[in-house]
Amino acid sequence: MRYWAYFTAKLLVAAAAVRGLLALILKTFPASKDPYAPLGQGLNYLLCDLALMVCFLLAVGALYAIVRDQRYRCRVCLRRLRMPIATGSWSRLLQGGRPRIEYICTYGHGTLREDDLQLTGGPHTEWTPHSDDIWAELCAPGKDAGDRP
Ligand SMILES: [Zn+2]
Repeated sequence: MRYWAYFTAKLLVAAAAVRGLLALILKTFPASKDPYAPLGQGLNYLLCDLALMVCFLLAVGALYAIVRDQRYRCRVCLRRLRMPIATGSWSRLLQGGRPRIEYICTYGHGTLREDDLQLTGGPHTEWTPHSDDIWAELCAPGKDAGDRP
């Protein structure tokens, strides 16, 4: 819930900034009241269109940056995921699996696995939460080995 609230807050801030930029453009290039004036204001229309195009590009760039930033955040603590590790190999597919990149939260909340090959469009990511007790996960393989004679 906190993850999506943060995402929504970033979108709202970006929307407010773009809205402010649009208001500035409208204030800079007011609509003309004379119906015959547009024929003589070609440069003004050209500059207005250029400003609107730059505003559109900024809005799309901000949306892309927000989505990309949100993808690589921890789902629990919202910190950036760190320590990317490349796993798997195409040449040793049966031994190591498909190539993918794993990111972890430095506070142990979870792991994000992202496939290296993206045939169906966007990246396929898989978030795996870790349990709160990190020692239980670290000692689990030892317990299995200790039970065996
Ligand atoms: Zn975390």
